[in-house]
Amino acid sequence: MGWKGDLTARFQARCLLAAPLAPETTFKIGGAAESLVFPVSDEEWTWLRSFVRRQGLPLTILGLGSNVIISDSGLAGVVASTRRMKGLDSDGSRLSAQSGTALDAVVAKAVDLGLSGFEKLSGIPGSVGGALQINAGAFETATYDRLLSFTALDEQAQIVRRSKNEVRPGYRKVDGIDGLIFLRAQWELAAGDPGLLRDIRTATLAARAAKQPLEYPSAGSVFKRPPGDYASRLIDACGLKGLSVGRAQVSVKHAGFIVNLGGATAQDVMRLIAQVRGAVRKKTGVALELEQIPLGIFQENMP
Ligand SMILES: Cc1cc2nc3c(=O)[nH]c(=O)nc-3n(C[C@H](O)[C@H](O)[C@H](O)COP(=O)(O)OP(=O)(O)OC[C@H]3O[C@@H](n4cnc5c(N)ncnc54)[C@H](O)[C@@H]3O)c2cc1C
Repeated sequence: MGWKGDLTARFQARCLLAAPLAPETTFKIGGAAESLVFPVSDEEWTWLRSFVRRQGLPLTILGLGSNVIISDSGLAGVVASTRRMKGLDSDGSRLSAQSGTALDAVVAKAVDLGLSGFEKLSGIPGSVGGALQINAGAFETATYDRLLSFTALDEQAQIVRRSKNEVRPGYRKVDGIDGLIFLRAQWELAAGDPGLLRDIRTATLAARAAKQPLEYPSAGSVFKRPPGDYASRLIDACGLKGLSVGRAQVSVKHAGFIVNLGGATAQDVMRLIAQVRGAVRKKTGVALELEQIPLGIFQENMP
């Protein structure tokens, strides 16, 4: 039966072969996974990590797929989704959540409990694990600001717990987390005024809806903010709003986003990214750095 048989035997209905990945992403783009599994427990993650190591298979972790560009040719080996790793608990001013929990559900819970520190993260459509991976943030607030610790699986399939001061979170990156699969995290928030927190959450969600092209599938900001500037300002100043390749377009509403007008391919997106980077570099001298994460094999060499 080979490795696919073993994987199916272990995960049963939670193992899909030749599984389309586009529905697993907010961009609605990407080919199929050779195999896609949905572990539900630490024990299943530990088993999976040992298994792929023994078999020499590539393993790709997916959260809610809101920061990735998955190649049209799909992903070989095993793709493991955290979608079924959901859970959210509170204890006084502490909140803990499993990696597949929507970050926005953690924010909503904090606001409901009158705990402050998360409200400006309202509306980020990723999971806790994806947010820990890149230190997702908005409006001067980021995932690691209030973090106490996280639990993860290391490359040897050992469960490790790290406190915040054992890693180095930065702007949309974290040093010291290579090879970890996040399982859960714990934060310490501060007491706040529930009414005020609710107002901030409402205003934050409204600001996002006003500025961002939420009516189209996308993966959020394409590029990181260059020092002292905004990628969207530079792209707009270069007259690139509305530029398209195939069905992928630089959003006319927010130049920092590329949207899928319906039927865009990953190759369309990558070509468009290359054009935008080239034009911005030529006109302004700024080399934009990708925030979104390409997964799989692409025809062109990408930044
Ligand atoms: C409309 C829109 C608005 C957005 N706004 C913001 C914003 O304001 N600020 C911001 O920072 N981002 C924003 N994003 C991007 C995205 O939501 C965040 O980067 C989010 O943290 C990604 O989480 P995810 O679960 O979707 O990760 P995925 O896209 O599934 O994965 C991203 C990366 O994290 C890794 N990963 C995921 N889970 C785990 C895990 N458990 N362990 C180890 N690695 C893991 C994946 O392998 C991949 O490399 C936006 C996206 C959209 C579509």
